[in-house]
Formats: sequence, C-alpha cells, structure tokens
Amino acid sequence: MSDEIINKIKINRVILITVDSLRADYDMLDNVRDVLFENVGSLLTFKVVYSNGPGTSQSFPSIMSSTPFLVHGDLRLKDGIPTLAEVLSQNGFYTIGFHSNPFLSRRFGWDRGFMEFYDFLGRYRSPAGLVVSSSGWKRFLINVLGKLLEGSSKKLWSIVNRVYYRIKGFNLPYIEARELNNYVLEWIRKNNNKLKRVFLWIHYMDVHFPFAPPDEYLSGTGFSNRREAFFYNYRLNFENPNPEIVSRLKKLYEASVRYVADNIAHLLEELSRYSLLDDSLVIITSDHGEAFLEHGKFGHAYDILYNEVLRVPLIIGGTFINSKRQIYDRPIQLMDLAPTIIDLIRAKKPIVFKGKSLARVLYEGSETNLYPIFSESAIPDLINLKYDTSRYIVSVVLGRWKLILDLIHSSVPMFELYDLAKDPNEKHNLFEEHKDVANDLIRLINLHLDNINKLKKFVENVLSLRLRLRKSLCN
Ligand SMILES: [Zn+2]
Repeated sequence: MSDEIINKIKINRVILITVDSLRADYDMLDNVRDVLFENVGSLLTFKVVYSNGPGTSQSFPSIMSSTPFLVHGDLRLKDGIPTLAEVLSQNGFYTIGFHSNPFLSRRFGWDRGFMEFYDFLGRYRSPAGLVVSSSGWKRFLINVLGKLLEGSSKKLWSIVNRVYYRIKGFNLPYIEARELNNYVLEWIRKNNNKLKRVFLWIHYMDVHFPFAPPDEYLSGTGFSNRREAFFYNYRLNFENPNPEIVSRLKKLYEASVRYVADNIAHLLEELSRYSLLDDSLVIITSDHGEAFLEHGKFGHAYDILYNEVLRVPLIIGGTFINSKRQIYDRPIQLMDLAPTIIDLIRAKKPIVFKGKSLARVLYEGSETNLYPIFSESAIPDLINLKYDTSRYIVSVVLGRWKLILDLIHSSVPMFELYDLAKDPNEKHNLFEEHKDVANDLIRLINLHLDNINKLKKFVENVLSLRLRLRKSLCN
C-alpha cells in the first residue's frame, strides 16, 4: 500500500485468536461479532478461507511463518524460517502466547519470537502430552515402541487413548476456554506496563476431539453430564467410524463451538475493559476443520484435503477497516494473515513469507485477484514425532476448480478434480472429463513443489552461511 494510506493506520495491539478444529460452516460466532462491533466499530467476515493443511502441524506453519508445511516437513518449525512473533517483537511488540496444544509447544519451536509463552506442557495429562513431553528413558521406550509398531500408529494411538482414560478417569486433555481466559486476564492485570504495544496469541482447544463441553452447554445433545459425553468420544473406532456415534458427536461438537464462542466474546469484553481493543487488529480464525464422514473420514484426518477439513472461519476487526460488518467472499488462505499483519504495522515482510497481504482489502475495501491456494499434508508418525514427506497429498484451488494430487493412498499419483461452483461438497470427480483444466492445475502443483524445494535449499544455505560466519567469528 502507499505510504500515505499506511501512515493513517495505527496498530499497537495485534490479538490473534485461533480455535483448533473449527469448521467454516460452524461459524457460530455472532456473539463474538457483536462484541467486536461494539468495541472496535468495524469488522470483516471472510467467507471463503482455506487452511493450508488439514491438521495443526500442517496448518500452523502457514499461520505463524507464512510458509507451506512441506518446507518444514516436520512437527517442528524449520530453523532459519522467521516467525510472525519474531517480526513483531523486532518491531517493538511485546509478544505473548497462551495455549495447551502439545503439538504447538516449545518442544517443536513454536515459542520462537515469543517473549512469554505459556504452552502448559506437562500440566495437562494425555497420551499426546506424555509423548511430546517425554525425555530420557521414557522417550527411549516410546521410540522403541514406535519403531516396533510403525505403520499401525493410528490404530495404536486410539487404543492408547482408550486405555489411558479408562485408567485415569475423566480428564480433559487440554486447558479449557474459561480457565485459559483466567490465565490471560490474570497476566493482563499484572502486566500493565507491557501492554502499550503487544502481540497476544490465544489458542483454544475446546472444539478439538474429544468433544466434552461443560454441563450447561449439553442441552439438546442427549448427554446429561460432561463425564458421560467425554467417554462417549472413545466409543468411536477411528478406522471404521459408526455413523450413529458420529452424528451424536457432531451435536457435542456444536455445543463445544457455542461454549468457545461465549468465552471468546467474554475475553473480548474484558480486553475492551482494559482498553486493549483500542488501536487494535483482532483476528479470529481456526487452524483447520473437522470431518464428520462427508467422505468417509472422521476428525481432521491427515490424508484428506476436502473442504470439511480445509475451510475455516475468519473474522478481522479493527477501527481502520473499510467496512461495516460486511462479508468478503473471494477465496483467501491462512498463509495471508502474517503478511497482512506485517503490512499493516509497516514492517518489512521476510523474503520467505509466501502469503499475500490483505491490507488493501481491509483498508480500501478492494478485491484480491484470484490466485492458486495450496494445501498439503503427509503421513505422520505421532509416536516417533515425525512425518514421512515422501508420501504426501497436495491440493490447489483456483477459482471454481480444485485439484487434489494424492500420493498417500497410492504410490502412483491419484488425481481428483472438483468444480466447486457446481459441486461444493466434492462428490463428483471430473478428472477424466476435464483433462485440460486438470493439466493446468497439475502444472501449478508442480511449480509449487519446485518452489518448496528452492525455498528449502535457500533456507539451508542461509543457515550454513550463518554457521560458518559464527565459526569464523569464534576463531
Ligand atoms: Zn489443530
């Protein structure tokens, strides 16, 4: 944007709220919009937003470092790739994060750039928490088990969870929204001096499996208490999900969304009481969706890239936004968020950030051009905490068309092509009928994969140069 325009925008607070596993069509966030509108004055709801990956580890690299998952290819953020928090802290923002997802913990480098980072790792008791936080002999044992059972880790994972909770009893595997809010608000009360220019990231886990909202949100779900709802989740066989169980779980999911929405609205009200919504940019979104058997899968399965796992809600609020609660319906991606924030605070975008700034959309009400949106995944091994990126799946969306290249379910590429305008539920594969369209999209995916390899090499060269420099300085 021009300097003249950008100089008019004053942002001293960036508040990023992410809800794990919240699907776009479950955007039941009207109370959140009301609070935002009351306290910020202007907001924009983005209707067609793609996550760049179907799970936390595949999506968050795009949110926090505006880079594709396959560049990282791991649960760990790749060294040498700057993060949004690093850019913001270099630009005078006090950076602080609160969440309880073990796969976003400091163990995998997600604290990079945060001056204070509360991942509560070790506090929440769950198989995932144990696997991620284990070290020493426990890690060794888990690695041995993982090596012995490689290839069946999904089945193993669900057995481990079932047995674990049978022994331990009812025990939420994350910190729930109202408790997380208390931590955030307590920190705010004690740290007034750090709030002049702040980047606050809060990630809620309540919509993530297992779905077990508090008792007061259970009406209409058929469950009488939270404990009962919690254990019902573990009746599900992930490999062969029973549709009846899934439809009851969907009700619990919906109730969990209501719970988290109330807590986001409450948090925003409180932030407003501390004047933290003044001069602010507020972003509310999710990392990916959740499948309820639309294509035979349940959960945020790593091996599908259909819209039930890719489409997410997005609301952006700020006084400078040229809109009054309007809707933006051109496709955009989560990878665009970091460049947008950086543009709006007048900082320099790192060369490796691949998303596009939406600053003009927000400030001028202009429209983005159509551009290809890529999403990726590979086969995870959650026991050994790594990905097999030789077996991947990539999708590209361009306008009405979507192509999926699948190397997870087959050793030779399998293709699916959907006309999203006529077939938004992705039921009719048109690959054979529209070879011309498919070939154009395959070319785009090949280019994207080439760019990923170039980016990986570039980052590795920068890292080895840095290492050599450091060594020569030491000598
Ligand atoms: Zn997630």
